[in-house]
Amino acid sequence: MKDCIFCKMIEGKIPCNKIYEDKKTLAFLDINPINKGHTLVIPKEHSKNILDVNQKDLDDVSETVRKLAPKIKKAVKADGINIMSSNGEAAGQAVPHLHIHIIPRFKDDGLEHWKGKSYEEGKAEKIAEDIKSLI
Ligand code: 5GP
Ligand code: ZN
Repeated sequence: MKDCIFCKMIEGKIPCNKIYEDKKTLAFLDINPINKGHTLVIPKEHSKNILDVNQKDLDDVSETVRKLAPKIKKAVKADGINIMSSNGEAAGQAVPHLHIHIIPRFKDDGLEHWKGKSYEEGKAEKIAEDIKSLI
């Protein structure tokens, strides 16, 4: 897709530190890593995000994530891995081409998990019903 930086990477028009490529997916180091080894996995077919992607492309991306996560963890001697995806501007998505973050984590890396909220009485049941009614 024109004007998409990740599509330009796939076409080789923008350089990246590529770590893996197959027919359907590409994986490269994030330019501003949260921790060393922070990798992005993208489908070669442009889709905006997980709300837009077709099942096959998502399956292919998933397979690449599963293949690479243990290798990245081993290469940087991480203690754990976060798999993360931002979908939509409100969720913090900056690049509108589907990408899954593989983020190596270290016991002392200082990153804090999001704090959870709690539901008011009866609200969780109502929201569960609202969601289920759409499936
Ligand atoms: P988002 O916030 O959309 O989930 O994540 C976008 C990610 O893409 C960010 O972590 C950012 O550092 C990374 N990124 C943005 N532009 C480039 C680039 O030109 N090259 C690489 N390798 N990563 C990029
Ligand atoms: Zn794209």
